[in-house]
Order: sequence, then structure tokens, then C-alpha cells
Amino acid sequence: MLVGGVGGARFLLGVRELLGATPFPPPDSESHAAAHEITAIVNVGDDAWMHGVRICPDLDTCMYTLGGGIDAERAWGRQGETWHAKEELAAYGADPDWFGLGDRDLATHLIRTQILEAGFRLADVTAALSKRWQPGVRLLPATEDRHETHVVVTKPGGDDDEQVAIHFQEWWVRHRAQIPTFGFAQVGSEAKPGPGVVDAIADADLVLFAPSNPVVSIGAIMSVPGLRAALRNTAAPVVGISPVIDNKPLRGMADECLTVIGVETTAQAIAEHYGARSGNGLIDGWLIADGDSAQVDGIAIGTAPLLMTDPATTAKMVVAAAELVGVTMPETIQ
Ligand code: GDP
Ligand code: CA
Repeated sequence: MLVGGVGGARFLLGVRELLGATPFPPPDSESHAAAHEITAIVNVGDDAWMHGVRICPDLDTCMYTLGGGIDAERAWGRQGETWHAKEELAAYGADPDWFGLGDRDLATHLIRTQILEAGFRLADVTAALSKRWQPGVRLLPATEDRHETHVVVTKPGGDDDEQVAIHFQEWWVRHRAQIPTFGFAQVGSEAKPGPGVVDAIADADLVLFAPSNPVVSIGAIMSVPGLRAALRNTAAPVVGISPVIDNKPLRGMADECLTVIGVETTAQAIAEHYGARSGNGLIDGWLIADGDSAQVDGIAIGTAPLLMTDPATTAKMVVAAAELVGVTMPETIQ
């Protein structure tokens, strides 16, 4: 599974419902291994350092959602959250003051930062945090390297023709994507796929793109050098699930992001953007919402109800996505 935050996490709930939890840590004996293993390659393009701590919004959204700790209403951050640290930081005039840094959430970032500073990898940190949350899915950061999504905008408060690149979080959380925007770029060192990522794709029976943001979630993952080749070379079929229904995104900023890169917010345009793996693209199948339409040479198109109202409903989407490319899923849900 390639996943971002909210859309990705909800999708993983459905996959886990269908296939059962992948135990963590893995059982010692082969005979006790899970019948199915679910691996999620998670976007780290939204990651940022703020107030001295490393924040990984999409990894945490997946972990809290699957671990039962998410704030259901907001769909991000911890349930029962309080905001004292944020208020105190603001009282000191500490920058940034626009980011929703909750007290409970802050504990996750403190632990993560400590483990990273002790020399461990983000993949190790994620595994360590997963011992508490038991997500039932192996969560792998797409890369260990800095690979932040930045957004080219007109300088806020500056001349109209002065452009600057700001962090994706600042663009989305602070400006609500409501400023003139010209493009996205990954900023950081030359990134490599994270540990286990290429093997997970190569060894998979099926690769799915969650209905995550095609630009700043799936696109940011795919922009890690080596990932595109891994996807194009795997023997597993690759199927995408559309994040738009009735040609509108469900929540989040898929349409703002797609508009910036010149792709319409339609099932058709996103399928063309991903492209057929038999050509130069990434997918073999594309599952779209009942009532939407798409036609792309080399891509098998299927329709299903795509609203992820609960894990059982989402599980049926997973079955439909698999069927598109001839992969049979367990019968329990069908
Ligand atoms: P983010 O990192 O929190 O923005 O989350 P993702 O990138 O994983 O997912 C955001 C996308 O999920 C949005 O573009 C939504 O259109 C899509 N989405 C959210 N809920 C649903 C749903 O119920 N069904 C479908 N098909 N897409 C959804
Ligand atoms: Ca995200």
C-alpha cells in the first residue's frame, strides 16, 4: 500500500479488516507467521522539524488511526488532546505559532526525536512506536532522507512577482492553500528508498495506491528516486483507488494540489496522470466511484462505492481493486 495521512489511514483500516492484522513484532517461527502481510509505504513529504522536534504527520495519522488513538472528529492528532504546550510556546512568541501541536502528540515527537538523535533510523523509530500502537500493518517511511514537500508561492505580504518556496505545512495549515501557488518541489538531500521499501514492492502479491492525495502524498512518495523503477519492475499488479467521487475530493486539498500541477480533479485526469504501467506509467488498474467514468489504454477500470464510511465498507473496495487485476482476496468480507 502506498499511503498518505487521513485517506491512507482509513484505507488501511479496510485492508486490515480484510486480511487480518500483521503482528508486530513479527513472530519468531515461520509457522506462526500471518497468512497475509500488509506493508504501508508512508509519505514523509509532510515531515518537518518544529520547536526542536521531528514531526511526521502522515506516519502519525496512520499509527493513531490504526491504533485507536486518533481524534475521530479532526481525523488527525490524538483524541482527548490538550494544547497547553502550544499556548505556552505562543506566549513566548515562538515560531511557528500556526501549527497544531497537541500535548499528547508532542510526547510522540519527543520520543521520536530522542531515538533519532541516538542514531537510529526513522524506520526503527516507527517500529518502536508501533509496539505501543499495534497498528496491525507494517509502517515503512518512504525514505530516511529529508524529502520535504515545499510549495512555490507569491511571497506572502511581498511584491506580487516575488516568489518563495515555503514548507507544505505552512502552505496548507497557515495559508489554507489560499495564496497564489506555482508548483511543488521536494527539498532535501538526494533521497533513497527507506529500508524494506523496495523489497516490499518487489515481493508483493498486489500493490495498491490508497485514495490519498495524488500530488503531495502518492506523488511525494513516487518522487523518491528508485521508487518509480521499483513499481515498474515488480511482478505484482498495481492498482490505484480514486480519491475523488463525483469528480470532487472528499476532504483535504487534492483539488488545490492537482490544479497547481495542471491536472483536473477527475477520475479520468488522475488516471492519465498516473499512467498505464504497460506504457511509461505506474498502474495496471484504477478503481473509480460508481457514477464516475474513466478510460485509459492499458489500465483496467472498475467501479465501486468509494466512500470509506467504515472498515467493512472499505474492505469491499479493496476486494474490488484486487479483482480488477485478477487477484482473489479472502472470502470473509465478500
Ligand atoms: P492527508 O495526508 O491527510 O491529506 O491524507 P491522504 O493524502 O492520505 O488522503 C487525502 C485524500 O483522501 C483526499 O484527497 C480525499 O479526496 C481522499 N479521501 C478521503 N476520504 C475518502 C473516502 O472516503 N473515499 C475516497 N475515495 N477518498 C477519500
Ligand atoms: Ca499528509
